[in-house]
Amino acid sequence: MSAAKTAEGIKVIEMIAEMKEIVSKVKRQGKTIGFVPTMGYLHEGHLTLMRKAAEKTDFVVASIFVNPLQFGVGEDFEDYPRDLERDIRLAESAGVSLMFTPGVNEMYPGGYGTTVDVGNLTDKLCGRSRPGHFRGVTTVVTKLFNIVEPDIAFFGQKDAQQAVVLKKMAADLNMNLEIEVVPIVRETDGLAMSSRNKYLAPEERKAALVLSKGLELARNLVGAGARNTADLKREITNFIIREPRARIDYVEILSFPGLKETENMDGRVIIALAVFIGDTRLIDNMVLEV
Ligand code: AMP
Repeated sequence: MSAAKTAEGIKVIEMIAEMKEIVSKVKRQGKTIGFVPTMGYLHEGHLTLMRKAAEKTDFVVASIFVNPLQFGVGEDFEDYPRDLERDIRLAESAGVSLMFTPGVNEMYPGGYGTTVDVGNLTDKLCGRSRPGHFRGVTTVVTKLFNIVEPDIAFFGQKDAQQAVVLKKMAADLNMNLEIEVVPIVRETDGLAMSSRNKYLAPEERKAALVLSKGLELARNLVGAGARNTADLKREITNFIIREPRARIDYVEILSFPGLKETENMDGRVIIALAVFIGDTRLIDNMVLEV
């Protein structure tokens, strides 16, 4: 499917050369480009980013690419949920004009050899649990930025460390674009939306609420005057481990956006969680201004 047009008019493009042609045409027309990179299996979190892009820019490009470079050995690259037809319809309804869906060989042809590494911020939280993950993210996002040439790229606060790392990358490498971060979109019961929620069996779906509830507990404790981060981490941990289906990867409290260790809740801090519910690794976070 190349430059295919669905009945409704959104364009779906698989080839980089074709993307570049369209992008230069759009730029010649003086239009601004908004960009929302995703791994697909779209939900309301993704669609919120796309609507925001449509509100702020003239021409919205989204991408769906399950990037092998950001998955570790034994992670869910092969199993990652996919439903392109549905995604295309949803993206169009959210204001996307162009959907870029490259294959792995189009992005990483034989002999591919360049990666992008951001220092300091990537050795903690998800970077510690998933070695090489952020190298995969920063490499693919750099390639996508070079292909799409967005004026504004939109990312979710759900992946808070990713957003911080990408902002640092864009600043360090003098990339000519803005990065806008959109708040976490949640299910009505508080679970942060994620394509991986699809993996959860019904009992696991209930158990998954320990993440958002653990964050709420922390917010309440801070509201009641708690300031010591070690104590707060212990309270959150004790709450989560009461759920037998939960296995903690990390419970961290760091300064935000610097992601530095902090003894006390002071200034802006992020409480960040990664918890396995059964085999599914979920993340969530909350930024507090103390
Ligand atoms: P993904 O397809 O999971 O790689 O996500 C693509 C983009 O959507 C990333 O910028 C994510 O941070 C963002 N995103 C995913 N889930 C949510 C959510 N629940 N709320 C806000 N943004 C999200």
